[in-house]
Amino acid sequence: MRLTAFFLPTLKETPNEAQVVSHRLMLRAGMIRQTSSGIYAWLPLGYRVLRKIEQIVREEQDAAGALELLMPTIQPAELWKTSGRYDDYGKEMLRIKDRHDREMLFGPTAEEVITDIFKSYVKSYRDLPKNLYNIQWKFRDEIRPRFGIMRGREFLMKDAYSFDLDYAGARRAYQKMFLAYLRTFARLNLRAIPMKADSGPIGGDMSHEFIILAETGESVVFCDKRWVELDVLADAPSFADDLEPFYLRHTSIYAATEEKHDPAHCQLAPEQLVTARGIEVGHIFYFGTKYSKPLGAVVTGPDGEPVTVEMGSYGIGVSRLVAAIIEPSHDGAGIIWPESVAPYKVGLINLKQGDAACDTVCEALYDNLLTARVEVLYDDRPDRPGAKFADMDLIGLPWQLLVGPRGLKSGTVELKNRKTGERVELSQDSALAKLTSVKLTA
Ligand code: ATP
Ligand code: MG
Repeated sequence: MRLTAFFLPTLKETPNEAQVVSHRLMLRAGMIRQTSSGIYAWLPLGYRVLRKIEQIVREEQDAAGALELLMPTIQPAELWKTSGRYDDYGKEMLRIKDRHDREMLFGPTAEEVITDIFKSYVKSYRDLPKNLYNIQWKFRDEIRPRFGIMRGREFLMKDAYSFDLDYAGARRAYQKMFLAYLRTFARLNLRAIPMKADSGPIGGDMSHEFIILAETGESVVFCDKRWVELDVLADAPSFADDLEPFYLRHTSIYAATEEKHDPAHCQLAPEQLVTARGIEVGHIFYFGTKYSKPLGAVVTGPDGEPVTVEMGSYGIGVSRLVAAIIEPSHDGAGIIWPESVAPYKVGLINLKQGDAACDTVCEALYDNLLTARVEVLYDDRPDRPGAKFADMDLIGLPWQLLVGPRGLKSGTVELKNRKTGERVELSQDSALAKLTSVKLTA
């Protein structure tokens, strides 16, 4: 992509409405635009990151055997009346009437809709287990939308729902999601700690919030110091294996949200206990027959008797993740994207646009990178180098390839690693070889 053809409305000034660094940087980098309180448009650069995160989430759900579908954003109130949640949900639910005066709502979550779909088709235990998910916009009329897309009113969520014949099946479905979440967050370069969370009226131990430690986090959390260093995927099983040992190993290391933390029962020595703030990026939850019962999701069991299916639901805040990745990964100059979600891998900077030698070399590098399918943003604007450096650092692409008249005289270009700041001079060919064939780690 050529920057002159792109839409990158970066800001020099720090917007004063933004209280946390991720919000400030997303506004300054031209990633999002607020259209009303808690509701944002995703501008091209931000949308690329959102889609990359979405794709990683999707790949790991698929790997765990979950099946993607797409449910509507607008739901009928009727289903929520059947489950008993229509009145309970309160003001967070955006209620709408259509032209026929029918009660509708913008879905804040989709347990009712998915259970209704499931029960319409699945009638036998032989069709279990199933896990169905979608990645869809949700609306919650949050009382205090804040921190940009971190706590928005409209936000993108991955929500999966498992259906099983019995508790043992539901437990396995839960453990698969537990593993899928650890794999997902690792690919996003995030250390997300599964913390024991409130499990509602069902009780039991199967409710975990996945939390990233960050000073700007909204929740207070408590965990064993070991989590801070733990390689969570060391000796991770594959989805086909028995996941019980892995699950028990991880859930035995203390980690709890504020609601679940009980100082009287926490066995950790004070110096071993971390008390911190955190950002919730995912939540997995087993709730038995809470929805299947009122909505009538019943299958015929092996003995011919009807069985109300056991369910769980599993959410990831896909749009919140964009901010959650920036919070621990930035410096004074801007964002530092992990390569897996960077909007482009390389920023090509022409330090003297209009100079015949610089233009020729940049065009050749640009063509070669495109041919090699390396995602590249080419700053071909006629601006000063200083302004180009500042924008490129701000938007945080993992690699910058700098082409200027001085280097070209000795036949070199410069490759800068955004994260380490390390710069090396090398020939065009070696630069290309590095960016194309070798898997560079940012
Ligand atoms: P929170 O305690 O932050 O309000 P929640 O318990 O209401 O979250 P869930 O219903 O479990 O959240 O939704 C699944 C995921 O969706 C959360 O883990 C979070 O990452 C994300 N999420 C929830 N509310 C918002 C929001 N208002 N804006 C952005 N993401 C959100
Ligand atoms: Mg909430």
